Amino acid sequence: MAAQKKYGKSFGKLNSFKTGFFENNDGMLRMADKMADILSSQPKRTVCKICESPLSAPFLKSHGLNYIKCEKCGHLNSEFEDTDDFADRVYVQDDYSRNYSEAEKEQYMSRRDLIYIPKAEFLRDCLEKEGLSAEDMNVLDIGAGCGYFVSSLHELKIAASGIEVSENEVNYGNSVMGDESLLCVGLTDSIRHIRETSANIVSAIGVLEHLVHLKENLCAIRENESISYLYASVPMFSFSCAFEASHQDCYNRHMGGTHTHLFTDESIAYMAESIGFEVAYEWRFGSDINDLYRFIMVELARTENNAFASYFSERFTPLMDELQLVLDKSGFSSELHFILKRRKR
Ligand SMILES: [Zn+2]
Repeated sequence: MAAQKKYGKSFGKLNSFKTGFFENNDGMLRMADKMADILSSQPKRTVCKICESPLSAPFLKSHGLNYIKCEKCGHLNSEFEDTDDFADRVYVQDDYSRNYSEAEKEQYMSRRDLIYIPKAEFLRDCLEKEGLSAEDMNVLDIGAGCGYFVSSLHELKIAASGIEVSENEVNYGNSVMGDESLLCVGLTDSIRHIRETSANIVSAIGVLEHLVHLKENLCAIRENESISYLYASVPMFSFSCAFEASHQDCYNRHMGGTHTHLFTDESIAYMAESIGFEVAYEWRFGSDINDLYRFIMVELARTENNAFASYFSERFTPLMDELQLVLDKSGFSSELHFILKRRKR
């Protein structure tokens, strides 16, 4: 069955959540450079993160790191491996261990409504096409963070729980939601949790790319036959890579930092196949144009082109959604949401 496809999303209001990227380019760049240094001290990658084919010569270079495109599945791999040591050193815990003000709870809800409710609605709408109603759905969200996605599913009357390694995030999320939907589990336990869950859907929003032991997590999904669907979003090998590689003094949000490898349609299909699933639904919306816009604005500020920057911004921002939609439809944009479905035997 060919996957059902959906494209685009309005980014108008989302910009406000990412203003730090605009205002603090140099700070963000230093942070990414530090992570690149840590990655460079890891062993060289010899095989593709997804299909394990031997890797050959680098295909592109950005912000001090080489990237190798897998000849078999197209997956873009950094030349160094993401290891447990790398993960320990780059995933710094945010400080959620305080009392939470009403203003913060309001902020949580508005972030949830703007970013995560649409993701939950997409899942619900697709699975309704599969003949499942909301009460038939039971979701285990892995890498649940503060529970934005779990809370969104509850809002749609879908049963959901989440597992997360950060205790602070779990406490924060449970406190805002007023229940115990999130569970703090270590990395090894999380694999056991997937193997034993009775949920029929596993979700992983912006998570798969960060898993050092991705293969073990995928195996656990394959082996647990109550799981029929995997809903995920991942960063893609996309236009943003070229925008970043050609703007070395701008913060590399997409290819760098904790993103040590980027997916392609082929590598996602390979991953699905490897666990006996197929790609059933896709929703493609990237933020490549947002990245391009940011690089131009950062460079204009650096060259003291402030008046022209405001003029450019006024002309350009109304076009951004439409320009991004062109990139999304080309299939080479920075983010893909997809639902994998277990193949019938
Ligand atoms: Zn590969």
